[in-house]
Amino acid sequence: MHKVVVTDDRYGNYSEEKSVLKELSVELIILAPESNREERIENLKIIQDADALLVNLFPMTKEIISGLNKCRIISRYGVGYDNVDVNEATKKGIWVANVPDYSIEDVSDQALAFLMGCVRKVAYKDRMIRQGKWNLHNDQPIHRMKNKVLGIIGYGAIGKRFHEKIKGLGFSKILVSDPYIDKKIILKNGAVPAEFEETLSNSDYISIHVPLDNSTKKMIGKKQLSFMKKNSIIINTSRGAVLDEQAVIEALINGWINGAGLDVFETEPLPLDSPLHKLDNVILADHTGWYSEESKVELKTKAAMNILAVLKGGKPIYQVNDI
Ligand code: NAD
Repeated sequence: MHKVVVTDDRYGNYSEEKSVLKELSVELIILAPESNREERIENLKIIQDADALLVNLFPMTKEIISGLNKCRIISRYGVGYDNVDVNEATKKGIWVANVPDYSIEDVSDQALAFLMGCVRKVAYKDRMIRQGKWNLHNDQPIHRMKNKVLGIIGYGAIGKRFHEKIKGLGFSKILVSDPYIDKKIILKNGAVPAEFEETLSNSDYISIHVPLDNSTKKMIGKKQLSFMKKNSIIINTSRGAVLDEQAVIEALINGWINGAGLDVFETEPLPLDSPLHKLDNVILADHTGWYSEESKVELKTKAAMNILAVLKGGKPIYQVNDI
């Protein structure tokens, strides 16, 4: 009997995991959240004894991984695995796996929703009308999307899918900035490869789809915002720290740009005293670009499939490390 442990419960229901793992003899243990030291110790004992771990945000630190007795795989529910000490896992011969592709549809939908919402001022109008206001044209002018230029920064899975979805909106040009993608692919898909700053200064709308790393951290700050058109709109569904949030707030307040759609923030949950709450030219979401009922099923199924593959003696489907 294999012991598979879910370290931190976010879903309540584990029917997908059970269905994937049913071909093996598996005991699926869902750890209850610990509220005191004794419960923590009890949970750690269960983790130490697991054959496989399904991990959400639980910090799989060096200490915890080094204490694992027979674990063969740590499968992360999600794309990022910064809460798992991959080096330590590799040293101990434990596979680390993730699910990099479960939310491509959903994040690209979210970017599209932000784009349409910001251009048509949907959230703003809804708020004003509920306050008894009408005839809102002058407060927040709307510009037509047709014949405008759209910039995509980061042309991986989500950036590409977003591009496919916006093809019918009549943009005169779609600029793509991604130094790691062959220009021929961008051209073949009907867009124009462009340098980062060229994309910023020529686009009416910018959608960001890069990973957060040293090269992308705060890649859009005061200087970059100053290149942008006054009527431009920034959509960020990637990671909060890709933008210099303070600079974006300043730009939104001072009218250096027209608006923003933000799914992600430097600090999450967004602190209640953030000036973003008070700005009418921004649409906010709670880092749920990834989420749909369908993506959740896909995530849970694929995270469990990583485990099934390893417990059957193979490699995970989405391997992060090599052991
Ligand atoms: P991906 O790895 O397929 O694509 C990322 C692209 O960014 C790659 O093509 C890469 O070449 C490019 N890139 C890297 N550095 C760049 C730079 N400096 N300038 C321009 N391009 C650069 O990733 P993906 O699946 O498309 O996801 C993109 C990001 O979306 C993820 O890294 C993650 O941070 C974010 N995300 C957010 C949510 C959410 O819920 N909001 C969910 C999933 C992913």
